Amino acid sequence: MSLADQPPAAALVFQTLLQHGPLSRAEVGRRTGLSPGAVTKVATPLIDDGWIAEVGRPTVERANGRPATLIAVRAERARFIGVKVTGDELIGVLADLTAQPLASRRAALGSRDVGTVVAAIARLVDQLRAAAGAAGPDGIHSIGVAISGDVDGQTGTVQYSPFLDWRRVPLAQLVESATGTPTVIENDVRALTVAEQWFGAGAGLSSFAVVTVGAGIGAGLSIGGRVVSGAHGVAGEIGHLPVGGTDRTCTCGNTGCVEAVASTHAITEQARQATGDPELTMEKAVRLAHAGDPAVRAVFARAGHAMGLALASVANLIGPERIIISGEGVASYDLFADQIRQTFADHAFGAAADCDLVVRPLPFEEWARGGAAVAAQRVFAPLK
Ligand SMILES: [Zn+2]
Repeated sequence: MSLADQPPAAALVFQTLLQHGPLSRAEVGRRTGLSPGAVTKVATPLIDDGWIAEVGRPTVERANGRPATLIAVRAERARFIGVKVTGDELIGVLADLTAQPLASRRAALGSRDVGTVVAAIARLVDQLRAAAGAAGPDGIHSIGVAISGDVDGQTGTVQYSPFLDWRRVPLAQLVESATGTPTVIENDVRALTVAEQWFGAGAGLSSFAVVTVGAGIGAGLSIGGRVVSGAHGVAGEIGHLPVGGTDRTCTCGNTGCVEAVASTHAITEQARQATGDPELTMEKAVRLAHAGDPAVRAVFARAGHAMGLALASVANLIGPERIIISGEGVASYDLFADQIRQTFADHAFGAAADCDLVVRPLPFEEWARGGAAVAAQRVFAPLK
């Protein structure tokens, strides 16, 4: 069976089962809007080829009283590798079709130039492939790379990544050539959002957002059950919301961005100015703030205010049930939590303030797992 020959309905049924299975065929029909006949037509070749299987004993469907068999994806049918790229490290996860991790590896990056990063990804993939060989006979179906910046998942191109200083890099194609394995790429926060939607704090919610605070500040938006990319692939760039209140220059070159005040780098720089210590580290800034240093506490409060404005903007725009706050910056979250909640409550309009703010420290392995989940979702829809 050629995957490319599958109708779009196959991708829909498959993704529904990935996210919500096991389900009866009738339930798949209700969730996808497909007729029972269409579900059966799509499911039969997927069962024949081992992608999905009937599981368990028949249960009774209430509507007609007839027994219904549940269908689910077969986790062991294919393996995927997810890779999260940071400025100085690669984090890789080997996962099955349901994005359950089977092995993980990390590798330091000696430099950020494209050739070095692609070669390092290829080495990491080899290590994980060896782990896959030990764990079972199947090869790797595809690789999903999660990377920060303006990422065009459809063409596989990193249009612009400020942290890596990359512009128009055809990363999917380069990794594919270096590894011999089909590769998809996705913005890293969006990949994490897919993971949260599928098996994290966004499971079962129709609309939610994941906001990550760290070297950069970004958001993944799930609206009506879909993680959105926007027409130009940059939906969710809340780090560059122009909240004003600063003349500091952002990584994007503008002033007034949330990220120019609230990224870990911005907090460190402002704390250096506030203390007059040019060597001050983020860890030291956190210690000073905990010890009650008023100037450093003010830096965290300003960052919390900018974040609160950004979160209120997200709530007012899309009305999510929940905003999940994550990223390496949440390690010091207690220092700006009060200011975030206060500003959020002041600026969220009406019922938008009912949105649940949840803090979830997630390791980079979870972002890499998101890359594997993106690759698995695209099995029957290589180009959305
Ligand atoms: Zn900016």
